[in-house]
Amino acid sequence: MFLAQDSIRKKRDALPLTQEEIHHFVNGICDESVSEGQIAALAMAIYFNGMTANETLNLTKAMRDSGDVLSWPKSEFDGPILDKHSTGGVGDVVSLMLGPIIAACGGYVPMISGRGLGHTGGTLDKLDSIPGYCSTPDNATFKKVVKQAGVAIIGQTNNLAPADRRFYATRDITATVESIPLITASILSKKLAEGLDGLVMDVKSGNGAFMPSHEKSLELARKIVEVGGQLGVSTSALVTDMNEPLASAAGNALEVTLAVDYLTGKHRDTRLHEVTEALAVESLLSGGLAKEREEARLRVSKALDSGSAAERFGEMVRLLNGPADFIERPAHYLSAATIIEPIYPADEQLGMYLSEYNTQSIGMAVVQLGGGRRKADDKLDLSVGFKHISPLGTQLNKQQPVAWVCGNDRDKVDTAREMFLSAITCAEAAPILNPVIYERLAR
Ligand code: URA
Repeated sequence: MFLAQDSIRKKRDALPLTQEEIHHFVNGICDESVSEGQIAALAMAIYFNGMTANETLNLTKAMRDSGDVLSWPKSEFDGPILDKHSTGGVGDVVSLMLGPIIAACGGYVPMISGRGLGHTGGTLDKLDSIPGYCSTPDNATFKKVVKQAGVAIIGQTNNLAPADRRFYATRDITATVESIPLITASILSKKLAEGLDGLVMDVKSGNGAFMPSHEKSLELARKIVEVGGQLGVSTSALVTDMNEPLASAAGNALEVTLAVDYLTGKHRDTRLHEVTEALAVESLLSGGLAKEREEARLRVSKALDSGSAAERFGEMVRLLNGPADFIERPAHYLSAATIIEPIYPADEQLGMYLSEYNTQSIGMAVVQLGGGRRKADDKLDLSVGFKHISPLGTQLNKQQPVAWVCGNDRDKVDTAREMFLSAITCAEAAPILNPVIYERLAR
């Protein structure tokens, strides 16, 4: 007979769990025969003693199979099913562009995204700023939109990897999130339940990243590539820089504006473009939509230059109940803050170079404005944030603000400005800039 305490004891004593024990424990998480205390105890034992490659694989598989695994019949979907996942950061609006780009290149993207918590933004919150956009469609609508637009970005459903929801909620309150096998199983179980052919991971590294060090980011990327591949999904990963906001805006509606401007070619931030393009190239390669890198890059450029990626985005928004002309008139639909003010550097910083951001603090300044959550049920003000954020290496002068702050409350705006200024460091000499992409990992 399976007893949860036996598995906990084994793991406590650093012995490996069998596939059957893991399977039973995960089933117990779902049917609630395993208590919250037992989940916490196992998570802590795993936190300290780790998991073997086999255990991590079995945990991921059991969690993936704890609910529905979507299927996409070849008779209806004549291209590969692809997705990406990012470990999150500030100004990371890549998903909104990447999904439509892949769709325009012949892939299908059933992207299930999350909400922001703490300093990192969430794709779903960004989409909430589009009036009418439905991020909780039923299954039939979800499939219809994926088929017609090639991409649908929606929220987590109750029946995809349900074990992760309870497991993660317990880890979150017991200081056991920071475990590579648990993070791997958590992320991959949800993504692989989408029924993918290919997955590309964007693992962030830097002072705005969720992982605490570059080495840990690399370790996570390696593990995800390994387990994803073992479970039959062509998985690759990029480790990318999060030592400054990825885009020139941070905040929900502000980032959606940036995404539309990117897709329509009105404005493209250099670093944001580099990451988006590189992830798109990885996706096309993993889905067999291009044979080599240069071919993939040309397809991505064509999808953008021809306007077909923008069309895919517009179609997704329309089919999910958003405005039919959103891509033509985003400013008409997105709410704007009532206070929009420049942030100027201090006099003693003039002539110096922007050498460092405390990226996490920039994210927390957005939270402070009301654009992010401190706890899961906080209500957001989607119009607030920062725009025209200067990249590292900018030489500061009196004419050019380092950023603009957007808010709806005088005190919050003033605090956010102070937080922004405290989050920047200046130097006499131009800094050596970080690469945008540190590593590429593929099996
Ligand atoms: N994101 C997830 O989905 N799961 C984790 O465990 C950590 C981050």
